[in-house]
Amino acid sequence: MLAASLIPTEVPGVGVLNSAFEAVVDGLRSSILGFAEPEDTQAFHVPPVISRALLERLGYVDAFPNLLGTLHTFVGDNRRWRAVQAARLADGAPWHSEQTISDVVALPATCYHLYPLVAHQTLAQPVTMTAEASCYRHEGSSELGRLRSFRMREVVRIGGPDDVPAWRDEWLTRARTWFDGLGLKTSVEVATDPFFGDAARMMAPPQRQEELKWELRADLGTGQAQAIASANYHKDHFGGLFDIRTGGDVAHTACAAFGLERIVLALIAAHGESPERWPASVRGALGLGGTGR
Ligand code: 5GP
Ligand code: ZN
Repeated sequence: MLAASLIPTEVPGVGVLNSAFEAVVDGLRSSILGFAEPEDTQAFHVPPVISRALLERLGYVDAFPNLLGTLHTFVGDNRRWRAVQAARLADGAPWHSEQTISDVVALPATCYHLYPLVAHQTLAQPVTMTAEASCYRHEGSSELGRLRSFRMREVVRIGGPDDVPAWRDEWLTRARTWFDGLGLKTSVEVATDPFFGDAARMMAPPQRQEELKWELRADLGTGQAQAIASANYHKDHFGGLFDIRTGGDVAHTACAAFGLERIVLALIAAHGESPERWPASVRGALGLGGTGR
């Protein structure tokens, strides 16, 4: 088998994956789907873009304006484009001077596509959903593992205020046990999202105090541990925004998020670049041959 590689491109944080890397991603995906299956989980395929208006309503623009990738297009007519071209030729004006922000943005987290699926519903029992998407975050640094374009598999729970935090804690434990079995040493840390500007002052302290976000961090070979998964409890934030109810109450939500490329990089840091030389139990667990499945 090939060495598992993330091949850099000419832009930092955007990589191409070879088939050996992707085979490991496939194994990770199967395991996560296997954990989710007993919960009667509904699986969806979601696109890598999402409504800009939706993210505005969710407050994403206020909290993470630096990470959001916006999509702009040229909406002028042929005549206008000829004028843009003429200015380019005459004085080197940029081709994109008249690009206009569109109604979609690059998806920053998979779960934003899932809550709207049960908007305006009253749930008779808790709902579990899963999806995986190519996500984009306009990260400033380009250290290994800090990809701007990466895949995030998420499992989401929507239910009552007793059910949802317990579910979140269970997934945190489940993920840690899974990583242990894959030979990945993880630390479990209370974390905050990387809020920007005033949002950092307003939103990070309560998030930390209430332990709403937990991260599992592993060494990616850079000497600094990075989050390979997170387990998040949003209380009734999304339930309120999307008018989701359980009985008479606003629904609570949680998500477990797995950064697939980062998990592969942690496996490479732990076991080397050649999956065929990884411990048989790890290969087995990932469906790469060997024992342990
Ligand atoms: P969160 O929503 O908790 O910030 O992200 C969920 C998971 O996605 C993280 O635990 C991590 O595994 C992955 N992730 C977040 N940001 C990045 C990134 O910049 N690059 C990569 N490769 N993965 C990321
Ligand atoms: Zn999420």
